[in-house]
Amino acid sequence: METERDSIALVTGGNRGIGYAIAAELGRMGMTVALGCRDLEQGEESAARLRATGIDAHAVRLDVTDPDDPVAVAAWIETAYGRLDVLVNNAGIAGPRASQVPGSTVLDTLRAVFATNVFGAVAVTEAMVPLLRRSRRARIVNVSSGLGSMARMTDPHDYFAGLPAYLGYPPSKSALNHVTVQYAKHLASDGILVNAADPGSCATDFTTGIPGITRTAADGARVAVRLATLEDGGPTGGYFNDAGRVPW
Ligand code: NAP
Repeated sequence: METERDSIALVTGGNRGIGYAIAAELGRMGMTVALGCRDLEQGEESAARLRATGIDAHAVRLDVTDPDDPVAVAAWIETAYGRLDVLVNNAGIAGPRASQVPGSTVLDTLRAVFATNVFGAVAVTEAMVPLLRRSRRARIVNVSSGLGSMARMTDPHDYFAGLPAYLGYPPSKSALNHVTVQYAKHLASDGILVNAADPGSCATDFTTGIPGITRTAADGARVAVRLATLEDGGPTGGYFNDAGRVPW
């Protein structure tokens, strides 16, 4: 695809799961992909796997909860490429469920989940915005979850409404959705499109032990890839899954 060729993308949590699948698909479209990874050794292995398929992939150390890492990665991207075209904030954790149940909640668990899923995405975005502003067609995708939809959680006809209460992960994705809206407002005049992606339930390490999941990481990557490659004038400040808009 003409427009994707020569583009530079950064995918956080790019070493495995949905993040790796997003990086692989963006790479297949012709983008150079930087895999943000907590563990650089694992990241190097993942990048080597992508390079073996002809993708220009690089691993960078990026723990989204470490205040120094986003700044260091931005400096590396600036030196190597001078700009960033696509940022995918994919890194996420669920955290131990037992300590997120109302009545036996451990605040440190909630803090850890928000530190990665919300503040981590903000920290990386803050560091990358100057580089994204230098792109002719910048896109930001925040990998959310259907569990972040308050509309679905409160719709008695939706099976989410019947799920046990869980204070950390779903609210963290609702917060990420709102962060998406605020960045979309802030960056609209720069032409930077900012959207949230709901990958749907996919079989990754994240969902180990949950029965009946048939979607793959590649299936989950599809909506993020679509939002990362939106044409100019495409939607911004939205929340999408494979089927279209997700109610907030
Ligand atoms: P996964 O296989 O568990 O992968 C999570 C990725 O995030 C890993 O690369 C992990 O790195 C990285 N990560 C976690 N904390 C990090 C941190 N502090 N800094 C940098 N990277 C960090 O999960 P997944 O299924 O691919 O999930 C990816 C995203 O999709 C998450 O945001 C998740 O909430 C969302 N999601 C997943 C599903 C699903 O069904 N799988 C559904 C809805 C939404 P390490 O390898 O170092 O741990």
